[in-house]
Amino acid sequence: MPAWIGWFVGMIGNEFVCRDKFNLTGLEYFKETLDVVLEPLFDRSVARVSGYEEKLYGMIHARYIVSERGVEDMRLKYERGDFGSCPRFYCKDQKTLPVGLSDKWGHSTVKIYCPSCRDVFRPRSRPKLDGAMFGTSFPHLFFMELPMLKPQPPVEKYVPRLHGFRLHESALKPLESSETSTEDIGSTSSPSSFPN
Ligand SMILES: [Zn+2]
Repeated sequence: MPAWIGWFVGMIGNEFVCRDKFNLTGLEYFKETLDVVLEPLFDRSVARVSGYEEKLYGMIHARYIVSERGVEDMRLKYERGDFGSCPRFYCKDQKTLPVGLSDKWGHSTVKIYCPSCRDVFRPRSRPKLDGAMFGTSFPHLFFMELPMLKPQPPVEKYVPRLHGFRLHESALKPLESSETSTEDIGSTSSPSSFPN
């Protein structure tokens, strides 16, 4: 494994990252950065990671994990629980997969997707990885490739109760915001105080 990748995936929280070799075909355009990323003698003590290397590595990673070998690598990591479990109580520690909320770099950090409740959460380990390293489609492509791994949706659901009685829907609704109060807030602020 090239030294930079070894260093990068060894950082805290990077257990999310696939450590395997990537198919670099088509990325020769990024030759200079690739030379840094794939530099076999990369020295962590003089590391100058501009962020561009990370982005390039992330793009390669996002493409790799949807390849045949990548899906297999991610399956091993999923089954080992590398991506953590769903924090939702009724999901009973269902294992999760990493997902991005955007395919564009720099929009948000990686989230975890629970295939049982089909919702997304902040990972407990809070890895500072860009969500684009995994992309918005990854978990869905993963279960299309491996449908036998798809879990059942949760059977139980939380029911709000008061002294044992189920709360009426109307008691759970937030207070309706009044237009008058919004106008009041607006009128007390000078328009120049808002950035353009
Ligand atoms: Zn869940």
